[in-house]
Amino acid sequence: MADDSSDPLISGYHRFRANHWPAARAEYEALAAGQTPHTLIVACSDSRADPALIFDAAPGQLFVVRNVANLVPPYEPDGQLHGVSAALEFGVKVLNVRRIVVMGHAHCGGVAAMRYGAPDTVQDFVAPWIAQGTPVVRRIAETCELESCEQATEEAVVRLSLDNLRTFPWIAGREADGRLELTGLHFGIAEGMLRKLTSAPRFEPLS
Ligand SMILES: [Zn+2]
Repeated sequence: MADDSSDPLISGYHRFRANHWPAARAEYEALAAGQTPHTLIVACSDSRADPALIFDAAPGQLFVVRNVANLVPPYEPDGQLHGVSAALEFGVKVLNVRRIVVMGHAHCGGVAAMRYGAPDTVQDFVAPWIAQGTPVVRRIAETCELESCEQATEEAVVRLSLDNLRTFPWIAGREADGRLELTGLHFGIAEGMLRKLTSAPRFEPLS
């Protein structure tokens, strides 16, 4: 067998098996019967903002959808390939999650690309994907204070995704009758702190 000791993925797996698995085994065996996550999280694919770590979540607790810039497209049941919408439908209708969280984060390259344009090397998929957020981001960027612009645009994308979540009739309906709560968060990478979109409406430190 090849020596994988220098591969961080394989060595991480070995640590999981040696350090984590013995204590967690019974939990995983129970989860094999099915999952009942309490929250569906839409987060960015960014390697620095991992929902399971930030919420100290155990397996089975979070149903996570990650994509470039934590975007939720609007409801479009047109038979096309809608990966985010498929995950939402499964999480809401089958798993009956009680909450959907959209979590943006600081220094988001996807949001920066909405503001400044996607790099030439990622025109096949990234450019059309982030284009859905470009109008709102550029509108915010026209009026925000220079030092807070990056954060303001990231917050605007969280709001956009929340707005688009409410275009799904089975999300809006469940929110209206109290079965589903929608929450917007922003994660500050350097501080390790979450801020929450309040009814103010603005993002404030999570108490
Ligand atoms: Zn990001």
